Amino acid sequence: MAHLQLQKVGKSYGAVEVIPGIDFEINSGEFLVLVGPSGSGKSTLLKMIAGLEETTSGKILVDGEDITHLDPSARDLAMVFQSYALYPHMTVKDNMSFALRMRGEDPAEIDRRVKEAVIMLDLGGLENRKPGQLSGGQRQRVAMGRCVVRNPKLFLFDEPLSNLDAKLRAQTRIEIRRLHERLNATSIFVTHDQVEAMTMADRIALLKDGKLQQIGSPQDLYLRPRNTFVATFIGTPEMNLLPGQVDITDRGFRLGGADGMHLQASQERQSRLAAAMKPGGPVKVGIRPEHFEIGPAETAGALEIKVNVTEWLGHEIFIFGQSSFGPIGVRVPEGMAAAPAAGDVLRVRPVADRWHVFDARSGDSLLAG
Ligand code: ADP
Ligand code: MG
Repeated sequence: MAHLQLQKVGKSYGAVEVIPGIDFEINSGEFLVLVGPSGSGKSTLLKMIAGLEETTSGKILVDGEDITHLDPSARDLAMVFQSYALYPHMTVKDNMSFALRMRGEDPAEIDRRVKEAVIMLDLGGLENRKPGQLSGGQRQRVAMGRCVVRNPKLFLFDEPLSNLDAKLRAQTRIEIRRLHERLNATSIFVTHDQVEAMTMADRIALLKDGKLQQIGSPQDLYLRPRNTFVATFIGTPEMNLLPGQVDITDRGFRLGGADGMHLQASQERQSRLAAAMKPGGPVKVGIRPEHFEIGPAETAGALEIKVNVTEWLGHEIFIFGQSSFGPIGVRVPEGMAAAPAAGDVLRVRPVADRWHVFDARSGDSLLAG
């Protein structure tokens, strides 16, 4: 187990700055998911931690010790990639023990650790097979086994599930989490998939253009997104952003003038928002598709939606349509008596406190922080 600290860690390729300087800490035993769109610098950051890329500026500390310019082999960490990079001519057992044999460890000890990893990763009976005789999921487990036997301080995963089909991905996600519960090793898991991030992470660090957008628990990012990028990156279908001006009324807040949409808020939220809002400033009100009440009894302050498309998913239905604020997506519970169809008009109201307000220009939340 190790405590990892990044202090203003930056990366440039020649004149091109890819990561301007990033700060965060990973606690001992924590499973941190580094997520962001393709090209946001996730692999670069991971490779700098592993020592596979030179760090241009800043410091990387493990348990307080500066490892920024240490040789990769001296870092005591293990990295699992998207491509498994197993030796095709070696058996499962030999693939898993390779690093230990190179290090000249005691054969009995190697045997013990491999046996333990085989059980842990449910690879029993496959020890003498070659990678070509294994499924994708089994190969990925062997690749993990190769890391587990080394008992490293730090596990680094770079999109290890991308090559697997959807079902296997969901299964392997659970296996990696279970493995983490057992080993309790400090881990950084890179993915571009917000579902992987939400389901696996103790904490998520969300990256865009080499800059940290927010770091926190999945609940933090979902419930209290710092800006519109975080708000729309986490959650599918994505959060609606409705542009306009928010007025304070005697009943709470309202978006879009006199016959606009009523926004219900608790006392605490009312005072926080009233203090943060610039009078008349343009904002975007963020509401997730799952945070609408469908067909409220009261028409005043409700929002009308002309339905364009319905997506039926079994346990839920998403409708996409047009509102006075532009396009909008709404989740309808599966149990609703008559599922809306294209051309229908649906009346909805945002659930109290489950809405967000962002500055229209900067995209920053007026409520988070
Ligand atoms: P991610 O893993 O998030 O998809 P990367 O870390 O691979 O992103 O890349 C981040 C940025 O760095 C990208 O814009 C990419 O084009 C750039 N980049 C990566 N490697 C190099 C390189 N060797 N030379 C120049 N630019 C690079
Ligand atoms: Mg990458």
